[in-house]
Amino acid sequence: MYTLSSDLNKSLKQNLILSHHILYNEGQSSDVAGHISSKISNSEVFYTNGFPLGFDEAEIAQIKEVNFNNYNFKNMEDISPAIDLHCEIYKKYPNINAIVHTHPYYATSLGVIEKNLEMVDQQASPFFNKIKLFNENFGVFDNGQGGVKEIIEIIKNNKALILQNHGILVFGESIQEATIGAIILEKAAKIQIISMSSGNIKTIPKDSAVQANNFLSQKNIIDYKFDYFARRAIRKNAKILDMIKIS
Ligand SMILES: [Zn+2]
Repeated sequence: MYTLSSDLNKSLKQNLILSHHILYNEGQSSDVAGHISSKISNSEVFYTNGFPLGFDEAEIAQIKEVNFNNYNFKNMEDISPAIDLHCEIYKKYPNINAIVHTHPYYATSLGVIEKNLEMVDQQASPFFNKIKLFNENFGVFDNGQGGVKEIIEIIKNNKALILQNHGILVFGESIQEATIGAIILEKAAKIQIISMSSGNIKTIPKDSAVQANNFLSQKNIIDYKFDYFARRAIRKNAKILDMIKIS
């Protein structure tokens, strides 16, 4: 249905654009807020959407390049000032190659009631012991404001944070992993909220969560899922094929 460039850098950009459209299609865009970025392993440069564009407007021609060791967003009006958080995360955690920040309803609601994600959904096992509730409130991300320093400290080996009264941050070794992580986190949060409103919740035993995580965290499983969600987004909007065209 779609083909990616054989060049690693170009296919990364194409997958970054697909990630925006996938998350838009899954209901995780919020006008010009929310940010997705990705880089090649061991590179100092990452890519992100132009500002102020929505997820559904992301296209190759609008991609911006940022060197996380040398940036000054005050002079870069076409990049969101919130992207400084991404710079600081990439600087501190070299194993993170992709970051998704969105404001989905159910995961945000968990933060509002001061609950972390529980292991209520087998599909969310990759977050077993790898997700934290960040219950401080520092305002919006803007050139170093918004709790950047505190967020950097809490990430450690977590795969995601629920930001109270705000949204989520999901980290991945690849753009595919961060994107799928955002989808499964929101789905599990939805199950948790619905279950909590109906009665006591029963969580997955530790051994089952570990076993499910071992299977679901495999690179090929994550890539299959990403590819499926990309096909699903393209079936809804064939213009995405033009938006990922790269020369
Ligand atoms: Zn936000």
